[in-house]
Amino acid sequence: TYVVQDNCIACKYTDCVEVCPVDCFYEGENMLVIHPDECIDCGVCEPECPADAIRADTEPGTEKWVEFNRKYSELW
Ligand code: SF4
Repeated sequence: TYVVQDNCIACKYTDCVEVCPVDCFYEGENMLVIHPDECIDCGVCEPECPADAIRADTEPGTEKWVEFNRKYSELW
């Protein structure tokens, strides 16, 4: 899965949401999140993010962000 990290906070762009083929972005309290079970790992959102907030969960340090993204995407 891909995850959104906290550089997303205060970003007003939704380029990532527009390109996601499976609509797996959700609104958290003050940032967007990706539902980890719905993301198909296509990677198209990552270069679209102007805040450089999106990472693959294969990158180090993303574990807590997977749980954060899951928590807020499941509130919907
Ligand atoms: Fe959507 Fe693809 Fe980004 Fe996953 S990697 S959130 S499926 S655009």
